[in-house]
Amino acid sequence: MNGKQLSLGGTVFSLPQPIFLVIEDVGWWQGYDGSVKNEPFRNGFCRRHCLDDYRALTRLAKRLSMRIAIGMVLGEWDRTNFLKVVTGATWMGEAWDNRINQGPWLEAAAQYLCAHRQFLEIAVHGICHEFWQNGQMERSEFHDESGQMRSEAIVRRHLEAYATLLAQNGLGDYPRLFIPPALFHSFGNGRESIQATLKSFGIEYITTRFSKARLYAVPQHPRLAWECGVGLLERGLSPVSWDMAAAAPILLDDNPVIALHWGNLLHPDPDQNHEIVDRWADMLTAKAAGLDFILAEDLAACWRQAAAYFLADFRQEANSIIIDLKAVPKLPCFTGVIALKIKEAQAKTRHFNGAKIVGQITGEDAIATIFLLPEPHQIKIEISNPDYS
Ligand SMILES: [Zn+2]
Repeated sequence: MNGKQLSLGGTVFSLPQPIFLVIEDVGWWQGYDGSVKNEPFRNGFCRRHCLDDYRALTRLAKRLSMRIAIGMVLGEWDRTNFLKVVTGATWMGEAWDNRINQGPWLEAAAQYLCAHRQFLEIAVHGICHEFWQNGQMERSEFHDESGQMRSEAIVRRHLEAYATLLAQNGLGDYPRLFIPPALFHSFGNGRESIQATLKSFGIEYITTRFSKARLYAVPQHPRLAWECGVGLLERGLSPVSWDMAAAAPILLDDNPVIALHWGNLLHPDPDQNHEIVDRWADMLTAKAAGLDFILAEDLAACWRQAAAYFLADFRQEANSIIIDLKAVPKLPCFTGVIALKIKEAQAKTRHFNGAKIVGQITGEDAIATIFLLPEPHQIKIEISNPDYS
């Protein structure tokens, strides 16, 4: 059984595990994997990307009522070739010439992303994903393959260049989520950490695989960690290979973050993209029915719910249900509204102490989802009902 469940007086309460979609390697215009010729690992896709490939993601977001996170690489959005002066940013170095990708599709995609930002949230994934050391491609942009962070000056320069690419294309404010390219990352060295640098750019959320990161300190929880005000959530294994186009939906383990790659969700014929994303939407919607799981409405909801799911003490005390949030760190990324699912034969009156109900929906399965906002400085939510005694 997943979820954290308690039964009391014929009512079942569940603190559900969130499910949230993160799509990586969005933003390339070229589809081919360039890694064999010193270019980036792109999507290994059989054609150029196009506006329909973004529309497919919006369709999926709408089906799931979820503001999906898209980890974008923006190097091929460079309108002025300024990346020629950014150390290690591209395979061409000072000869960088992006004219092949400069065309009306940039403006169309930028406008589309702005008009659909309530469905698609841009996350930093990199400029061109890898790093070019003396012209030779290395994995990956911010860390080497041993998890050694590149110099802080280089990391900062690349993060600033990302801001320039966003501004050139009118893509909005700096993102709040960082997804390390190729999962090379490090954690646990405090003020020296990449978390400290990322935080200074406004990043508050990171998802990566802890087992692939260089760990200077053990994460506070096997699937959840925090450093310098940034919350890290285990990304798990992608259920399908990064370069598998038009992938049939499967899930591996139960992990809050489900990481897919853009090409997984796309069809060689862009007019048929919807067939691929609809299958994923059907599978995820079915997975989230019942008490154990909930589709997170956005990344903030996912991080908060994951913190409650992994760290809260969910227990029965006399005739009450207690959600004790004492172990949840008091960071903005982990605090706020959490969801509780309730199943009962007949609706009963309930009292909530320590939290305010800010939303409630009842699904076709007669399971109610209640959204609770803990009162300020309150770490214990108590749910009681005279009938439970
Ligand atoms: Zn990637």
